[in-house]
Amino acid sequence: MFSNSLIELDRAHLVHPVASYRTHETLGVRVLASASGATLTDATGKQLIDGFAGLWCVNAGYGHDSIVEAAAKQMRELPYATGYFGLGSEPAIRLAAELADRAPGDLNHVYFTLGGSDAVDSTVRFIRYYWNARGKPNKDQFISIEQGYHGSSTVGAGLTALPAFHAGFGLPFDWQHKIPSHYAYRNPAGTDPQAIIAASVAALKQKIEQLGAERIAAFYAEPIQGSGGVLVPPKGWMKAMREVCRTFDILFVADEVITGFGRTGPLFACSEEEIVPDLLTVAKGLTSGYVPMGALFMSEHVYQTIAEAAGASAVGHGYTYSAHPVSAAVGLEVLRLYETGLLENGRRAGARLMAGLESLRDHPLVGDVRGRGMLAAVELVVDKERKTPLPAAADPARRIFDRAWHNGLIIRAFASGVLGYAPPLCCTDSDIDAIIERTRQTLDETLADPTVR
Ligand code: PMP
Repeated sequence: MFSNSLIELDRAHLVHPVASYRTHETLGVRVLASASGATLTDATGKQLIDGFAGLWCVNAGYGHDSIVEAAAKQMRELPYATGYFGLGSEPAIRLAAELADRAPGDLNHVYFTLGGSDAVDSTVRFIRYYWNARGKPNKDQFISIEQGYHGSSTVGAGLTALPAFHAGFGLPFDWQHKIPSHYAYRNPAGTDPQAIIAASVAALKQKIEQLGAERIAAFYAEPIQGSGGVLVPPKGWMKAMREVCRTFDILFVADEVITGFGRTGPLFACSEEEIVPDLLTVAKGLTSGYVPMGALFMSEHVYQTIAEAAGASAVGHGYTYSAHPVSAAVGLEVLRLYETGLLENGRRAGARLMAGLESLRDHPLVGDVRGRGMLAAVELVVDKERKTPLPAAADPARRIFDRAWHNGLIIRAFASGVLGYAPPLCCTDSDIDAIIERTRQTLDETLADPTVR
């Protein structure tokens, strides 16, 4: 059968991202075949609501002909243009200008990459260059946050603070440091927002004191920690951390690879937080996952310092596919869609999603519900009082993912027993209601399974 032979070929040849290769060989691939709106169809014809927008990226939803047309038109006219040799293409220039126009503050300079990991990687390169340009080459230490995710490049995976990205890879590097997360549900400082902010500020200041401000290049934060389990800091947290960095002359990098492009409501979560970082990274929703693209924004002083120091010399950082015209053409069309109804729909659907997930709080397995807009999580526990996680030995993530799949829903099931939600912004009320109903059904079945408790 069609899909059986695909399963064999996959098992023999395709190495999957972030997977247990042995488990995957045993279980076999599930082949996705087509999609429309928020609904995916697999190779057997089974339909599922995509509660995770692929990998938090298909913000516009599937099947937009206008995006397909934009890509096809660009491929016919000019499928590739390098940015080397002083060359460029119209869609890349226009997209950079449109994005700079909408980005917070003076984040006026856009460097296009292929995705989020190389956007983060590029920030590290530019930041090192920046401090050398300012005559402070010793500022070469980087700080990020436990439970943070900043990509899978060698450098980005070191900034990432998830054990699977370090173990066996010789990471992190000794110049990569972490402070504890704001993780409100399990914060030793308690649940009071001001206490959580104060604890993070104290932890960052302590780390700065320990390393010496004159050695620290930059601090990285996600407005909401995504891959760490959708951890939402209290309002004012980003601002407080940004201020610490300003005080100690440390660059502040906002990693908006997940939160950018309507995921939490506006185009940039930093706008909601009323902060202007020194650098900002995006990817995913930039092209809604239809083609690969990421970007980083540099503020005026970062860009000008680098440009001034380089003078007539080349700043040696570039990819063959930097500012790819087809990706840029898709980005322009996706941006148009955001601003002609999609952001608005996302905000409406996000309120419904959050209300629906809140209604699950009465379920015996639900310890915490958190999120903002179309980015949310439900944390499962076996004992609400003690906040006891589901037993890891029972592999709850795989079991819950499988049950949800069976019930026609794709969600992210983190190993820690956290369910992640990031549906396309185009979701209808009935899509959202189905996500909630199918989640409840999945939770009921999980509760009835003695091995998971
Ligand atoms: N930063 C953050 C905050 C992310 O969530 C991700 C991807 N999940 C990345 C960077 C890396 O992006 P990519 O997978 O496109 O390389």
